[in-house]
Amino acid sequence: MTAKDISRFRDYLKERGFKWTPQREKILKEALILEGHFEADELVYRLRRKGIRVSKATVYRTLPLLVKAGFIKEVIHGEKHLHYEHVRGDSRHDHLICLRCGKIIEFEDEAMREIQERICRERNFRPEKVLVEIYGYCEGCR
Ligand SMILES: [Zn+2]
Ligand SMILES: [Zn+2]
Repeated sequence: MTAKDISRFRDYLKERGFKWTPQREKILKEALILEGHFEADELVYRLRRKGIRVSKATVYRTLPLLVKAGFIKEVIHGEKHLHYEHVRGDSRHDHLICLRCGKIIEFEDEAMREIQERICRERNFRPEKVLVEIYGYCEGCR
């Protein structure tokens, strides 16, 4: 999280006619601090715990803007809620999700990636977003 991130987000919002507010800056900061996957409600909870007054609606409206601005991405559409995580350079990975405890296991598999690329290539399709979610039960929950 740098001053550059803040000004990049501020410019992004201004260019598109969105208001830049201190709340949005706090949401950006918190989202970039969070490790791993998170849901909108978790972010609301963490902000409030830090004494930052921010409405749920603001968080729900701001997260998609952070996605569009390229700070975070949507992962795991899941059964319940959308999860987000940082955009971490080149790291592309997929997820195993436990239906009982909600644990998320990340994996990266070259062969899987090649298959996805081949499927798209053969159909002359340009992929923009690939989400692989495997639902089941982790070792501890079986
Ligand atoms: Zn589990
Ligand atoms: Zn992940």
